[in-house]
Amino acid sequence: MPTNEEYRAALERVICAKCIDGGGDGSCRIAPGRDCAMRAHFTQIIDTVNSVFSSSVEPYVEQLRKKVCAVCTEQSPGGGCALRDETECALDRYFPLIVQVIEETQLKKRLHA
Ligand code: SF4
Ligand code: SF4
Repeated sequence: MPTNEEYRAALERVICAKCIDGGGDGSCRIAPGRDCAMRAHFTQIIDTVNSVFSSSVEPYVEQLRKKVCAVCTEQSPGGGCALRDETECALDRYFPLIVQVIEETQLKKRLHA
């Protein structure tokens, strides 16, 4: 299995370079005082993706809501999230690509093991 640092490096290389809150060079320009959910929930995201194996994104999203959004302080007791509704959460916005990066990182590790 890849290490957390290998997952983190792969995610930052792909997602931060693409993120509209990033500087285009992998740097982060999220508003001061805000925390990126992809960083804040990093370990739970890896566990969530590793708990699913599907060609469809829905089961991954279902687990994301249960394992990450449920413990995120941005989610209301009713299960809503203003950041999600406004596509302001990078984790939610890029989640299909995040799943892909995590699974590709595993595959590369297996092929080179
Ligand atoms: S908001 Fe998150 S995903 Fe976007 S650049 Fe910053 S750390 Fe990366
Ligand atoms: S979608 Fe909302 S509740 Fe889920 S991780 Fe992002 S900010 Fe937190």
